[in-house]
This record gives sequence, structure tokens and C-alpha cells, in this order.
Amino acid sequence: MNEVKRPKKPLIYYYVIVLLILLLVNFLLMPWLMQRQIQEVDYGTFITMTENKEIGQVEIQAQENQILFTNQDDTVVYKTGMVDDPDLTQRLYESGAEFSGEIIEQMSPILSFLLSWVLPIAIFIGIGHYMSKKLMQRAGGANSMAFGMGKSNAKVYVKSSEGIKFSDVAGEDEAKENLTEIVDYLHNPNKYKEVGASMPKGILLVGPPGTGKTMLAKAVAGEANVPFFSMSGSEFVEMFVGMGAAKVRDLFKQAKEKAPCIVFIDEIVAIGKKRDGQLGGNDEREQTLNQLLTEMDGFEENSGVILLAATNRPESLDPALTRPGRFDRRVPVELPDLKGREEILKVHAKKIKLAPDVDFGKIARMASGASGAELANIINEAALRAVRSGRKSATQADLEESIEVVIAGYQKKNAILTDQEKKIVAYHEIGHALVAAMQSHSAPVQKITIVPRTSGALGYTMQVEEGEHYLMSKEEIENKVATLTGGRAAEEVVFGYVTTGASNDIEQATKLSRAMITRYGMSEQFDMVAMETVTNQYLGGDTSLACSAQTQAEIDRQVVALVKRQHQKARQILTDNRQKLDELAMYLYEKETITGEEFMTILNG
Ligand code: ADP
Repeated sequence: MNEVKRPKKPLIYYYVIVLLILLLVNFLLMPWLMQRQIQEVDYGTFITMTENKEIGQVEIQAQENQILFTNQDDTVVYKTGMVDDPDLTQRLYESGAEFSGEIIEQMSPILSFLLSWVLPIAIFIGIGHYMSKKLMQRAGGANSMAFGMGKSNAKVYVKSSEGIKFSDVAGEDEAKENLTEIVDYLHNPNKYKEVGASMPKGILLVGPPGTGKTMLAKAVAGEANVPFFSMSGSEFVEMFVGMGAAKVRDLFKQAKEKAPCIVFIDEIVAIGKKRDGQLGGNDEREQTLNQLLTEMDGFEENSGVILLAATNRPESLDPALTRPGRFDRRVPVELPDLKGREEILKVHAKKIKLAPDVDFGKIARMASGASGAELANIINEAALRAVRSGRKSATQADLEESIEVVIAGYQKKNAILTDQEKKIVAYHEIGHALVAAMQSHSAPVQKITIVPRTSGALGYTMQVEEGEHYLMSKEEIENKVATLTGGRAAEEVVFGYVTTGASNDIEQATKLSRAMITRYGMSEQFDMVAMETVTNQYLGGDTSLACSAQTQAEIDRQVVALVKRQHQKARQILTDNRQKLDELAMYLYEKETITGEEFMTILNG
């Protein structure tokens, strides 16, 4: 049954409001209405007006101790206080004023009753009637609920000529190819029906955040020119059990009416998370999910409703949701590769003014690992930087700086490093760069800087790959670990003591070495056995161990040995090149930021 009981309206609530309005009208509005026309003047003015024969009517209210009087043509009513004045009556008589019983006519009791009691109630009933009618209309039909509870609130993007198209989504060619079929189906459903082919009911877009999943879903709707219902998974989950399920029902009801159309559920994990069967689980979420599953079974194949959903945690989805017949097609939307990044940069660069010197290829190489959203951000940061420096267009330097802003935060203007600290940071960074340069298979150094950043980094060395890398050899990873230990090694070689500056390097070096042993099968002892599995592929790549405690201890030993070996190698490289190390570090210390070319010139000089 689709009926949802109307919640009882708390009557006391209405009574209180009616009472408040009545009090307001009677104590504030009515006295104000009555007093509005009376002007208060002093007794002197009254006497002067009397003497000048400017008074029309007069009424002495002895009880209230006041006199009311009007001007000659009775248009204004004045009021003044009474003063002990025995000649008053005589003077008034002489001035020709007319003694009146009642200058301000009392409002008739019936009118006053109507105004102060009946009118507010009538207004209130009128408003109530109007509101409830409106709400009923919006909730729509027999399935509606009082005051719009259980409505889906889905945003509908009805076809529009300026909607997002596939051409706005750069890169992601595979995903676009996959979704083109959907568009074709929405245009020509008969072509598919004739052959007996049926479209998948649900398509799941999976990938890391900011890769354009939402954009792709909108693009499908834009290309197909059909209505687009968009809702986030979390919007279904309400405080009251049963509301989410009602929202799902309402969404599908609307969608079926508007078919062909696309229903997009963003962050579907919010409702589609695996039901773990534990006591005290989230009833509301489970009911919502059950309703979604039922609805998906309920609509016919080829009914013209296509369900798209996006998530970056596909592994947490309930298997019932991903089985054939429901979300049976999975479209990966991965981080863009070099070409993809370049295209995304170009798409977003159209929105800003660029100087002719911009080299998108280089920017794309520098921004390795960036998502579409980050690239869009880089372009915007560059434009902001151009405005800040009073230029009319963004230059290559703006773009390069904005990559650093996105990676490491803004330059810290007032960070005060002591001279010794600055020297240590310079040696640390040159240590990284030198170890990288002295090994084969290392990405060339692009830039070294010791300007502190808001992220907390005191300096960094940027290495940029020449092209795209899909595989890494064991030697390459080892060299990378050695490069990471290079900073600390330089401190040891030069100063003989160590600082906290290497904490991030240590973290990364450990992570890499661990992955070599537990996941990449790069250790003699464990061969090709997986000791760890990645549990959160798209969000940071968390891992969980799958081995005995002894093995775990052995893994730890091997990780330590591996890092130690590379650390020793880095120290050796720096000791062997001590003179270059000093020369480069002093140069960096002076200039604070140097380019890869400057670095190479001094190194090879
Ligand atoms: P997701 O849903 O995957 O988290 P969105 O679709 O919301 O990501 O993307 C966020 C923003 O990033 C978009 O508005 C767009 O500006 C930018 N973006 C992401 N991917 C792309 C892409 N492939 N092409 C162009 N812009 C993109």
C-alpha cells in the first residue's frame, strides 16, 4: 500500500496563534487606530487658538482631566490637559466655540467587535485554507502527504539548449563511449526493441571524487534532450523512518510520468551501503534501500527511465543493488591521463583570458594525478592570480604557480625561518634533487623552492615525468625511496644532526616500501603473495592486512631493511658529490627558488 497516514495536526498550536493575533489586534492595533487622528498640544496653544477664534467644537472631559477641541473646519482634533481656569467657559463662549458632547465619535460596538474579533479569525482561516490547498497541490494526488513530507525534492533539469554536452566533458573517452549508447537508446528506443535488446536499468558511475561523474550524467541528459531528475543519496535519508522510502516512491512516480527521462542519484552509498544485518542497524536507510530495489524491479525494461548513480566507494555497495537487472552496468570514471588532463585544461581555459605563452602540455605534465575538478581549480587560481597582479590575462607562470597552490597551499608571507633553518631546508631540498639526478629512471627536477607554504611545507622539490607512466619497475620504486630519503641524508652528511623536516618523506617512503613487499610481490621471501588488499580504491587507497602476526612482523623487518638500504645509498651519493651539494644548496639559499635548468647547469658545470 502506498498510503501514508496523515500526521495529526497539533491543534493547540493553531489556538495559540489565533489567540496571539487577537491580542495583537486588540491591544496594539485598535488603540493605535483610535488615537491616530488626535494631536496633543499644550494649554497655551489652546488659549491662543481660543482667543483667535480658531476653535470649532470643544469637549471638556473632566473625568479624564483633558479637553478635546477641533479647528474651525473640524478637520483636526486636538487634545490638551486641563488647568484650573475658572474663566475658561466664558472665554470659550466668547470665541464662538460650539460645545459638543462627543467630538470623537465612539466606534459603534458592533463595528468594533467585528474589527477586533471576527476579522482576524476570518483572515486566519483564509490563510490556512490557502496554504493547505497549495501544499496538497504540491504533494500531488492520492499518494501525497501532509505538508509535503515524503516528497522527493528531486531537482528536475528539463531539456535545455545550453545544458551540458559530452563535448564539455574532456577526456573520459571510454566513459563517454559507454554512455553514448544510452543517449542513442533514448533517441531511438524502437531500434533496440526490434532486436529484443534491453537497456540496463541502472548504470553506476564509479571513480575518485572530482573526475566528472555528475557532469557525465548531466551530459547524458543534455545530449538525449530528456528531463533529468537529480538527487543526492543523503537527501533520501530522513529523521523519520519511512520518509526516505516514500521519497523514493515519489521520485519514481514522477520519473515514470516524465519518461523517457534520466534519474541521477549522486553518492548512492548513502542509501545503498551494504546491509550488515547487525542489530540496531540503520532502519531508515535499509527501508529506503529496500524501496529502491523494489522500484527498480517494478519498472519495466525499456520503459524509458534510465537510472544513473555515482559513487566513489563501489565496494561498499549492497550486492543486491549491483546484481544484474538493477545497476548492472558499471562505468569507470578514472583520474585523467596526460592527454585527458591537457584536454580538461583546455576546456576550462576557454572561460578565462590566456597569454599566448601558455603550454598546456607542460602544465598537464606538472599536474600529474590531478582530477578534473582540481584542474578546473588550477585554471581558476591562475586567473585570480593574474587579476591580483593587475594583468589582463593569465600567463604560464600563473598556471605553474597555481599548481603549487593547489598542491602545497599559498606562499606564507610572514613565516620567519632563522638563517640556520633556511640553510637546513636548502640542503634538504637539494639532497632530494641531487639523489634523484644521480640515479637513472628518476623524473627530471622541474623546480626547487624553499619558500614556506601554507600547507606547512618549508620547501619542496618538484619532479615532472616526461610522459605518462603506467608501470613502475622495482628499481624505479627503489630509486624513488632513495630520493625521498635524500633530504634527511643531506642533513646528516652536512650538519651531523637530523630535524623534523623529513616527516612527510618518511611517511611516503614507508608507504612505497610496504606496497612493494605486501602488494607488488617485489620481495624474495613472499614471492607473489598478497599480504595486503586495497579496501578503498578511490579514496586514499586504504589497505587492510591479510596475514598472520608472524608474517606481519617479518614484513615490518623487511620494510625497515629496504628503507635503510636506500637511505644508505642516498647518503653515499651525497657524500660522493659533497662539493656539488654545497654549491647547489648555497645557490638555492640565495635565490630561494630555482628551476630545473639552473639546477642541471650547476650540476653539470
Ligand atoms: P564528481 O561527481 O566525479 O565528484 P563532478 O562531476 O562534480 O565530479 O566534477 C566537478 C567539477 O570538476 C566539474 O564541475 C567540472 O568543472 C570539473 N571536471 C571534472 N571532470 C571534468 C572533465 N572530465 N572535463 C571537464 N571538467 C571536469
